[in-house]
Amino acid sequence: MLHSSYIEISKSALQHNISFVRQQIGPGVRLSSVVKGNAYGHGLEQLAPLAQANGVDHFSVFSADEAQRLLAVLPRPATIMIMGYLDKDEIEWAIQHKIQFFVFEPERLALAAAAAKRLNSRAEIHLELETGMHRTGFDAAALPEAISFLKAHREHVLLQGICTHYAGAESLQNHERVLAQYSKFNKIVQELARTGIKAPITHTACSAAMISYPQTHMGMVRVGIMQYGLWPSPETYNQYISAHQVNKDPLRRLITWKSRIMSLKHVAKGSYVGYGTSYQAPRDVLLAVVPVGYAWGYSRSLSNQGQVLVRGQRAGVAGIVNMNAMMVDVTNIPDVQQNDEVVLLGKQGEQSITVASFGELSTQLNYELLTRLPANIPRSIVD
Ligand SMILES: *Cc1c(COP(=O)(O)O)cnc(C)c1O
Repeated sequence: MLHSSYIEISKSALQHNISFVRQQIGPGVRLSSVVKGNAYGHGLEQLAPLAQANGVDHFSVFSADEAQRLLAVLPRPATIMIMGYLDKDEIEWAIQHKIQFFVFEPERLALAAAAAKRLNSRAEIHLELETGMHRTGFDAAALPEAISFLKAHREHVLLQGICTHYAGAESLQNHERVLAQYSKFNKIVQELARTGIKAPITHTACSAAMISYPQTHMGMVRVGIMQYGLWPSPETYNQYISAHQVNKDPLRRLITWKSRIMSLKHVAKGSYVGYGTSYQAPRDVLLAVVPVGYAWGYSRSLSNQGQVLVRGQRAGVAGIVNMNAMMVDVTNIPDVQQNDEVVLLGKQGEQSITVASFGELSTQLNYELLTRLPANIPRSIVD
């Protein structure tokens, strides 16, 4: 084993989740696979071609470097859309490669038109509207100017979409706010249409909006977390489960994170283990050293809290999670051997360690936990 841990991505789970999403949105709505954050830690290079093999032809990323990685790895042409950061110089690059991008302020709109003019080409843009998130998006006050600019530069700016993003569709607490954003969006889109500004698609929904607010589907949904088999929040899950009267999670998780037992040690009752005194052996114990620590994304807050799987059984983290290693208590697991597989996340036999359980213990959001898995842990694809 060259690496101290490795990640497996399930092809069949992705296929299953994509078809679940398609069932939710129906045949008329386009699916954009959101692969920012290294495909939520799954590995953009592994994930995107698999999604494409399942018929996905639209990808959303945050920045130009991710768009470039997609271009390099996708076997067939696809629409690539940058939702966030684009440097001034990268705008030209994006136009040359027919990469679409969000425009949310007059400066970017002007830069896009100027770059397209220089290239004797057209910038393909999505006009992002401010509807209540107050992060990015054209404010009502800036819109008239944008409209006249768009009209004057049709030759160099092609409006491919009009969009917005909801501020927390995964939480019922934001219900009114999401609905207000939805109506505001529709109102502005209608006003734009009256002035002659129309786009082939409008899109607003992330995973949570797709599940909880079907009216937000419009022309396209931008789905991240659910594609990976996780729910945006427990609320979204519970709401779905009760509305559809099912008792089983309809999604499947793609990721398994594994390591091996590096060493075993018998420790006598009463001894302190590892740094400091946070763990004192409550009896004679057998501890296994696992070569994974916080440098690999295994949060230090899982010290004395986390669990892993060995031989199909749970073993608790004993003591502080170190930079590159941690100890787990395997006293009750028969026949444990050095080199035994250790599952940090995912299934082994009948047991599983979920991202949710991890998240609850470390107070990390499932999004955060996944995207923090270092890119240099090797990813491989399994069935
Ligand atoms: C990340 C992101 C999404 C996807 O969100 P999920 O909750 O993972 O589905 C959609 N739209 C925008 C603008 C985003 O930044």
